[in-house]
Amino acid sequence: MSAYDTDNIFAKILRGEIPAIRLYEDEDTLCFMDIMPRADGHCLVIPKSPCRNVLDATPEQLAAVIKTVQIMSHAVMSAFDADGVTLQQFNEAAGGQEVFHLHFHVLPRHAGLSMRPPGTMAEMDVLQAHAEKIRAALG
Ligand code: AMP
Repeated sequence: MSAYDTDNIFAKILRGEIPAIRLYEDEDTLCFMDIMPRADGHCLVIPKSPCRNVLDATPEQLAAVIKTVQIMSHAVMSAFDADGVTLQQFNEAAGGQEVFHLHFHVLPRHAGLSMRPPGTMAEMDVLQAHAEKIRAALG
């Protein structure tokens, strides 16, 4: 497995070098909107410390991230009046990973509604409006 690349896009978001629509953070984790959402409210939870994925993460990094994933799962359920939540997490290119900083996808889901196909950039004002709803649900 390759070494952690400090220039991956999520490392740049953590350093404030590129923008992100931030929803929640604590000492160890950050959550922000996915720019190509496969469902309204699709967001990503990452650790603030470096690791590529589940394969090199410490138990402490995983524990911190899952705690925030649960917080965000409740928030998106409430914000979008969802029926369920899908969590996705990919490891290495062969496992479907494209950005090599550990992240969990949190997707609110509605009964009978499929996820959108990947790869379509959202309108920023729509993403901002969705982020506002999630922040409100976080209280
Ligand atoms: P994967 O590594 O396969 O889990 O995919 C990376 C995810 O990051 C995709 O869902 C992208 O839409 C998302 N993504 C890529 N760049 C950004 C960015 N600058 N801000 C927010 N989400 C991003």
